[in-house]
Amino acid sequence: MKIRLLLFFICTSFLGVAQNNIPIVERVDLSILEKGKIHKLWLSLGEDFQNKPITIPVFIAKGKEEGPVLGLTAAIHGNELNGIPIIHNIFENLDPSSLKGVLVAIPGLNPLAIDRNQREFIDGTDLNRIFPGKEHGNRSEQMAYQIGKKVISLFDYHIDLHTASFGRINSLYGRGDMNDSTLSTMLRLIEPDLIVSNKGKASFGTASGLTMRAYALSLGVKSITVEYGNPQVFQNDMIARGVSGIKNLMTHLGMLKGKVSIPVVENVCSKSYWIYTQEGGYLEVLVQLNQKVEEGEQIAVVKDSFGTIVQTYSAPESGIVVGKSTNPVAISGSRIIHLGVLTEK
Ligand SMILES: [Zn+2]
Repeated sequence: MKIRLLLFFICTSFLGVAQNNIPIVERVDLSILEKGKIHKLWLSLGEDFQNKPITIPVFIAKGKEEGPVLGLTAAIHGNELNGIPIIHNIFENLDPSSLKGVLVAIPGLNPLAIDRNQREFIDGTDLNRIFPGKEHGNRSEQMAYQIGKKVISLFDYHIDLHTASFGRINSLYGRGDMNDSTLSTMLRLIEPDLIVSNKGKASFGTASGLTMRAYALSLGVKSITVEYGNPQVFQNDMIARGVSGIKNLMTHLGMLKGKVSIPVVENVCSKSYWIYTQEGGYLEVLVQLNQKVEEGEQIAVVKDSFGTIVQTYSAPESGIVVGKSTNPVAISGSRIIHLGVLTEK
């Protein structure tokens, strides 16, 4: 009996430690938080089967002076992790007493997927394709709805931090509408290898069907997506570049003291698309990230089980390699490269 009691106390206090004594809240009210401080909260976005809240970590640095609210969201795809240490690093080195405005960051927006090392939500749905979600919808629809209502609505400016998914690698690139002067400036300030200009408003054929970025834009939030490298890893170079770019943006917005000039980004793409295999076999991609390719240049070969080349692939038009497959095992319809078509100068 004594052992049982002891175990009970160890277990309950352990649960307390696991929560780090950080309060769990139903919603975030930025106006009631103390100025000049960093706040940590667990925000509830629903309940698990034991009626316990499904929570996301919310990091808030509230400056002493009024200013914009910049939101950072990382890992809406649960295997895209580089954004998490980018947020950790920014907060570790942030002095809220000299900050203007509010920085709100979610280092892990899709915890159930992160826990499972997977991209999709637990019902197999890509959360980033179903905004604004539904209040009374299925599991993923309710989650997207909660994120939209409780997180995205807090922001004036927003960066959604991603990486490539399994079997692929990415350059550090930004996605946003380069015809919008604010978004164009934001995209340049993060100092990407390249930018793919698009409105992010594509529908994906579902009832709701927006990306989180498109949903944010529909609320009037200035939102861009940035891809930071590779899945399921922490990459020091990507993390350092991510921190530097976001600090550039914060400085430009007047949140941090100092001056920043808007960098020139040479490689701006007016469109981009994936090229897929037609044959099955073993895929060897012959080009590197950020490599410029000419129309007709060989980009990949597919070999059969005996090592004989069964197909070669060439670039259908000139462009730059935004992302590429790293998985040699290909069936017909497997991704080869993500080709960006550069804007004519
Ligand atoms: Zn992603």
